[in-house]
Amino acid sequence: MDHIKSLKCLICGKEYAPHEIDYVCPDHGDEGIVDVQYDYDLIGRRLNPQMLEQNPDRTIWRYRPLLPIAPESPVPPLTVGGTPLYKTDRLAAILKMKHVWVKDDGRLPTASFKDRASAIAVVKGRERKAEIITTASTGNAAAALAGLCASVGQRNVIFVPQSAPPAKIAQLLVFGSTVLLVRGTYDDAFELCLQAAKEFGWYNRNTGYNPYMTEGKKTASLEICEQLGWDAPDRIFVSVGDGCIIGGLHKGLKDLMALGWINKLPKLMGVQAAGSAALYDAWRSNMNAMDMQPIDAQTIADSISAGLPRDRIKALAAVRETDGAYIKVSDEEILAAIPVLGQNAGVFAEPAGAASYAGLVKAVAEGLVNPDERIVVLVTGNGLKDVASARKSVGEPFVVNKDLNDVKRVASQL
Ligand SMILES: *Cc1c(COP(=O)(O)O)cnc(C)c1O
Ligand SMILES: [Zn+2]
Repeated sequence: MDHIKSLKCLICGKEYAPHEIDYVCPDHGDEGIVDVQYDYDLIGRRLNPQMLEQNPDRTIWRYRPLLPIAPESPVPPLTVGGTPLYKTDRLAAILKMKHVWVKDDGRLPTASFKDRASAIAVVKGRERKAEIITTASTGNAAAALAGLCASVGQRNVIFVPQSAPPAKIAQLLVFGSTVLLVRGTYDDAFELCLQAAKEFGWYNRNTGYNPYMTEGKKTASLEICEQLGWDAPDRIFVSVGDGCIIGGLHKGLKDLMALGWINKLPKLMGVQAAGSAALYDAWRSNMNAMDMQPIDAQTIADSISAGLPRDRIKALAAVRETDGAYIKVSDEEILAAIPVLGQNAGVFAEPAGAASYAGLVKAVAEGLVNPDERIVVLVTGNGLKDVASARKSVGEPFVVNKDLNDVKRVASQL
């Protein structure tokens, strides 16, 4: 892995060789999140836009020289990456905007953005010959790890809050994971998973702890910019819980700037649920990430419910360093966004997936965006993950007897 210079602590700046530490900077307990530092001159000699254009592989592995894995490491067979970026002119018209794209990451193999990170976790875990890989999750990171592990026959242990939506728990069981439903919150599951991993020596995928998750998540930025012909958008809207996705998007954009493949940094727009808005509050009050205190998080968008966002250092830097903003939206606004995305883009999002669009609606209403700007909205999770919430966002179907007259009554209203 000669393309990696070091793992740099984001608190004290100390740098480590990749073989020296697996996760955090040992000087700050579990909080010392590190960032992978690359040799971009070397990477630029191994990969360039012309080579990418000729590569028919649409998965995240097309960016392999930019990923923190050894050249000889095998990768899981599931198709991770290459999700569609739809130009959605009807959504743009509703918002009186000129250019709105929706990137549908609900199309990934386990139906959420988390596959991008879990794919890397499986490669790293197997590089270390881990017997067991573990994670705590609100549901999607777990489903992603479970599916990717299943695809290579890797044993894994999953900690999720008992309140996780049934579809996500079903995925874990179908993929054959050992599932621990924790009587507590996601934050409780996270702590328990950390303790268990240390006790039993399991490889830990946890968000905001394992530095390589950011590197998997950055592939969405690489794809967006490549899909737009390396003409970077003005803003990217993304929902934020722990802040790993937004930090990953930032990392991907910084990679592309360092390589000179894009010439401007899109503004990152982090959307939080009003009941789980720790990063929004910290950003508003100009707080240092390390001074943030846990809050009691509550939202229908379970995937972005986080009392103390684990990747808060990277998440605040992503918005501050791109001159973006944090926005908060109510659960009602999130639910309302689900059918709008469905009916105007044909994309079915889970609540956390639709929150990004709800954030764009709010940003337009508040005059934060200019109508000419080129906007990308990231849909991070599929609506089939949480059908109960989807049903709350829409009306009821017609129920008819086996009688054409009943259909006529419906048809007359069309
Ligand atoms: C995990 C997740 C998010 C938020 O990602 P963070 O890295 O926790 O900020 C958003 N949407 C969905 C569907 C997710 O699963
Ligand atoms: Zn440190």
